Amino acid sequence: MTTINDNYLKLKAGYLFPEIARRVNAFAQANPDAKLIKLGIGDVTEPLPLACRQAMLKAVSEMGDRATFKGYGPEQGYLWLREKIAQADFQSRGCHIDASEIFVSDGAKCDTGNILDIFGSNNVIAVTDPVYPVYVDTNVMAGNTGANQDGKYAGLVYLPMTADNNFTPDIPQEKVDLIYLCFPNNPTGAVASFDYLKAWVDYARYHGSIILFDAAYEAFITEENIPHSIYEIDGARDCAIEFRSFSKNAGFTGTRCAFTVIPKTLKAKAADGSEVELWQLWNRRQCTKFNGVSYIVQRGAEAVYSEEGQEQIKGLIDFYLENAQIICERLTNAGLTVFGGTNAPYVWVKTPQGLSSWDFFDKLLQNAHVVGTPGSGFGAAGEGYFRISAFNSRENVLEAMKRITA
Ligand SMILES: *Cc1c(COP(=O)(O)O)cnc(C)c1O
Repeated sequence: MTTINDNYLKLKAGYLFPEIARRVNAFAQANPDAKLIKLGIGDVTEPLPLACRQAMLKAVSEMGDRATFKGYGPEQGYLWLREKIAQADFQSRGCHIDASEIFVSDGAKCDTGNILDIFGSNNVIAVTDPVYPVYVDTNVMAGNTGANQDGKYAGLVYLPMTADNNFTPDIPQEKVDLIYLCFPNNPTGAVASFDYLKAWVDYARYHGSIILFDAAYEAFITEENIPHSIYEIDGARDCAIEFRSFSKNAGFTGTRCAFTVIPKTLKAKAADGSEVELWQLWNRRQCTKFNGVSYIVQRGAEAVYSEEGQEQIKGLIDFYLENAQIICERLTNAGLTVFGGTNAPYVWVKTPQGLSSWDFFDKLLQNAHVVGTPGSGFGAAGEGYFRISAFNSRENVLEAMKRITA
């Protein structure tokens, strides 16, 4: 019989979201009249900006005319989009990133997973705890870990993020080869300062490590003096790959467009000891396994950079951040300790009275009919915390806060 990739059997059976669904369904069946409010989702709720929709409508019309019809586009994305990205997201912040170093894709989730294609199987890999589960599960699938024991995979280096280190993990003493960092962070809402990222860049350059930097929430940064890109740190071109997405800033979660930056100066070692440009490998990988994002969607993404587009996405981001402020304020007034919510659409709540994450989940569900996400679902160090998402209508946020504080 044909065999399978046995690494898939090591995956912890999708525990978090199915378990949430199970408890919510049981509650709904027992309480058919209760009006549940779900603040657990990491998905946007507001419609696409007008500028993006108009650009996509125009692109659809172009596809209906032989003279302007587009077939396969460049695997790396259209140059007009890559140039806008390079200028607006990087060069305008003093980062030396060229359009040719940007690879447009259909998602940061896919890219953070697929990037493992170009790395060897003998790297020591570090992830934060709590963590965006994609980084961990894709390493399990690739065979980069051992078995799961007590919620941790053998072979991975877990870097705890707690209130004690401001949710910025201590830099490890030992050498690791690949490090996943996500700032502003999902799930904690924490940000990384210049000094903190510089310490990572220095570490990575010293050890010849590579930082996989997920900046999907960059647009939510409101505070001054917080880097939006890792390339704002000197030396990052030699040690970092950055992932960005239009999902959270422009509401593209269902439309799909993102990009990955691989500087041409970034190198890693081949088995024969020679140094190889990672850009070449990723370019080869994309050309072989990917056929580009649709022309229509790339035109929609381009419109994010127009004057109207910028105004409209600012409106969306401000709206979610106001939700987050309301959540922080109301919960703080109710005596809870909260983190995040200022530079990210997530509020990370310390559970009261030493309740476990799941006990607090049940309490909110039973008493307030509000659904959030237990922090322990993102990793062992998330125990005792709870994630509340600001992606919702104002009405739902206000009603949920009223119920929780009551
Ligand atoms: C939502 C999110 C993304 C974006 O993923 P897409 O595939 O581009 O929608 C990336 N990283 C993190 C941590 C996220 O929460």
